[in-house]
Amino acid sequence: KLFNELQDLKGNIRVYCRIRPFLPGETGKQPVIENISEHGQLVIANPSRPGKDGQRLFKFNKVFGPNATQGDVFSDIQPFVRSVVDGYNVCIFAYGQTGSGKTYTMTGPNGATEEEWGINYQALNHLFRVSQSRRQHILYEVGVQMVEIYNEQVRDLLSIDVIVIFGFLNLHTVGITTIYQPNGLAVPDASMHPVLSTSDVLDLMDTGFKNRSVGATALNARSSRSHSIVTVHVRGNDLKTRAVLYGNLHLVDLAGSERVDRSEVTGDRLKEAQHINKSLSSLGDVIFALSKKSPHVPYRNSKLTQILQSSLGTSFIFILILQKPSPGSGVKKMCSNRSGNTNGS
Ligand code: ADP
Ligand code: MG
Repeated sequence: KLFNELQDLKGNIRVYCRIRPFLPGETGKQPVIENISEHGQLVIANPSRPGKDGQRLFKFNKVFGPNATQGDVFSDIQPFVRSVVDGYNVCIFAYGQTGSGKTYTMTGPNGATEEEWGINYQALNHLFRVSQSRRQHILYEVGVQMVEIYNEQVRDLLSIDVIVIFGFLNLHTVGITTIYQPNGLAVPDASMHPVLSTSDVLDLMDTGFKNRSVGATALNARSSRSHSIVTVHVRGNDLKTRAVLYGNLHLVDLAGSERVDRSEVTGDRLKEAQHINKSLSSLGDVIFALSKKSPHVPYRNSKLTQILQSSLGTSFIFILILQKPSPGSGVKKMCSNRSGNTNGS
C-alpha cells in the first residue's frame, strides 16, 4: 500500500529495489525472484507454495536484478545528484537486512575499483565534474560530514578526537575549517570537512568507515546495527550575480532491518534491536507522512529523523531496498509495516 501510494504520487519520492547476486556458497538455494518486469514490478515466489498462490507482487519505481552494475544503479540517480549543484536537496537511503547489499551499493566492496564504486563515491565524483565544468560562472565549495547513530547516540566519524584516539591520520589533505559556513541544514555539532576533489573524499570516507568499525568490539556486527550518514554540502557562488545557492545530499546506510527474535536476545542486543526497530519505523512514518503531504510529520521520534528533519521535507527522497536472492523477504517486511498485509502491494 505504501509503495503503491508513493509510486502514484510521482512526486519527490522514489523507491527502487536491488536484488544482489548469489555469493559463493549461496548457490543452490531457491531464488525468490520469479519475474522482474520493465515497469518495476517484482514477483516473489514462496518456494513452499508453488503456483500463483505462493506469489506476491511488489511495485517499485524500478527493480535492479542481480546483473545490474554499480553504474546501472547510479545512472538512474545521477540526474537527481546533479540537481544538488543547482541548489536542490536529495536524500538516499539504503534499507534491507544485514547481508543484502546496503554497504556494497552505497560504498562498494572493500578495495573497490572505479567500476565498483558505490553511490557515495560516484555521487561526489559527479558533483565535482559538474562543478568543474561550471567554474567560469559559479565557484563551488563542497563540505562533507559523516556521523553514525548507534543506540540513539550520534558519533562524529570524522572528528579529530576520534581520529587521534584510533590512530588514523589520513586527514592531512583536508583538515577541519571554520571558514566553511554551510546553510542551516548541517548535522549539528558534527565536524565539517571541505573537499576539493574525489580523492579527498575517498580519503575522508575511508577514515570515517575505519572509525565506524574500530569503535566496535565485533567489527562487522556493529556497523550493521548502526546507521551511517554521509552529508555533502554544496555551496555555489555565482561569480557574476553574486547569488549564493546551497544544495545538500544525504547518503544513508541504514542499520540492518532484520527482525530480532525477542526470545533469542537479551541485554545489550535487545536494546540495540529495539533502537533499530524504533528508528526504522520512525523513518517509515516520516516518509509516509511526507508522501501524504500531512501537516504533521513526526520527526521527533528518533535521532535519525531529527538529524534529517531540516532536509527531508525539501528533498528528493530515494529509498533503495536491498534484497538477498534467497527466501525470507525484507521487501515483504517493509511493505507490511504500515499496511498490515502485503497482498498486491
Ligand atoms: P549489508 O551492508 O546490507 O549488510 P553488504 O553490502 O555488506 O550487506 O553485502 C553483503 C555481501 O554481499 C558482501 O560480501 C558484498 O560484497 C556482497 N554483495 C552485495 N551486493 C552485491 C552485488 N550487487 N554484487 C556482488 N556482490 C555483492
Ligand atoms: Mg553494511
